[in-house]
Amino acid sequence: MTKSQGLFIILALVLPPGSAQTAISARLEVTVSVYDYADVPSKTLAKAKQEVQRIFHEAGVETVWVSCLPKPEKIELNSCSLVDATHLVLKILPHGLTGDVRDRLDVLGNAVLNESGTGNYACAFLDHIQAQERRHGFTLMGDVFAHELGHLLLGSNTHSVSGIMSAHWLGRELRLISQRSVGFLPSQSHRMKERMASRQGESPPVTRAAPVSPSD
Ligand SMILES: [Zn+2]
Repeated sequence: MTKSQGLFIILALVLPPGSAQTAISARLEVTVSVYDYADVPSKTLAKAKQEVQRIFHEAGVETVWVSCLPKPEKIELNSCSLVDATHLVLKILPHGLTGDVRDRLDVLGNAVLNESGTGNYACAFLDHIQAQERRHGFTLMGDVFAHELGHLLLGSNTHSVSGIMSAHWLGRELRLISQRSVGFLPSQSHRMKERMASRQGESPPVTRAAPVSPSD
């Protein structure tokens, strides 16, 4: 018994390193490094994370949540220093800091994209989110996270008329959000997966994470 277990372990070790990589790529996984500058209660954050995972899972993308602030665990430090097509950064800020956003309670977050539609950083504004949650009577933090991360994965600032990527959440979207059933449109899921699959094949354009601060 012991002998066969040993053999199994040796076989596992000599498997070509590419095998594991192929399996990971086929799963279309994105890592989200979360910097919580707003001290969101852990239960609230866990609920938001669950909603993000549901929305992306239904679109065919798995999300791995890495807590980088506060107190990253040792094992997460490497993940926190990576930023590329499949390692995105989400900053939760206490409030929108720039003038045009600060006074607009309907702006709940933003995603930073360059002219070619590439970007890895998204923000969410806690005070604006809480104001909307109080107004509507249900949580929508995870939906805001998913919307902004969606911009990064879709590579576009454009919005759709319905679904999680609509610019203004009105009657139908708010109802779906309250029921935890809002999501990406099929065309968006397709585009997101296609874009991720093609970018995962690239040689890893890994960069060091820029220092993040709430004033970004
Ligand atoms: Zn948007």
